[in-house]
Amino acid sequence: METLWQLLKGFPQGLITGLATNGIIIGLIYFFIWKKFKVRLQKFKIQLDKNVDSKQIKREIKNTIITAAVGALISTIMIYVSTKGYTQIYFTFSSHPFFSIAGFLLLLFIDDTWFYWVHRLLHHPKLFKYIHIEHHKSNNVNPFTSMSFHFAEPLLLTIWIIPVSFIMPIYAPVLGLIQVYGLLDNIKGHLGYEFYPKWWHKTWFKYFTTSTHHNMHHSKFNGNYGVHFRIWDKLLGTEFKNYEDEFEKIKQREEAIIANN
Ligand SMILES: [Zn+2]
Ligand SMILES: [Zn+2]
Repeated sequence: METLWQLLKGFPQGLITGLATNGIIIGLIYFFIWKKFKVRLQKFKIQLDKNVDSKQIKREIKNTIITAAVGALISTIMIYVSTKGYTQIYFTFSSHPFFSIAGFLLLLFIDDTWFYWVHRLLHHPKLFKYIHIEHHKSNNVNPFTSMSFHFAEPLLLTIWIIPVSFIMPIYAPVLGLIQVYGLLDNIKGHLGYEFYPKWWHKTWFKYFTTSTHHNMHHSKFNGNYGVHFRIWDKLLGTEFKNYEDEFEKIKQREEAIIANN
């Protein structure tokens, strides 16, 4: 019990650190893309006709604080269970070479699979109005939407890491890397701008989602449920049929604007 209390005392510090790092990254990306270079970057914008008002941003910032608190709680639990020796988190690369090398992709795949199914469940008509509706209040997404959730959602989306860490060896730096990638990929999905090149879907990169992919989820709603990869949406037929055409259209519009300048 004492150890638990000691760790719970670390919660406020975890919250402040989480809020500061996430807040600074999201705030800077928003400031540069949506404000400072707004005109110059207009050609990359996905939904040209829509803008974000201060009411939406205020709601998203409030939700971001709640999400950061849930994140700090999960981190506190993770630290507690790993100091108690329940997890298979390790610090020496050579202890499990396979997991040190392949761990990142494995965790990313587990994260994407878990996200896909929880996300689909949250879209169930009987459940939607209780939790996921909060995230979908943002139609024209921006970086602040990336952490704008009802408090139960970040809990449901990230809880998988606890049981997985009990059974799968996880190299500590890989765990850090997955958090950074997760945050940046989530912001990418809510950027509101498509910066990926025109040739994206002609290469192996096509298996990774783009900003357009998740933007369409917000504007069209019942499809494109995956977060990192398109694999589950492709396999289960939940990807919007015109997704690649939409991406192509945005890229053609971008080329036309560049040619006219
Ligand atoms: Zn959704
Ligand atoms: Zn979203």
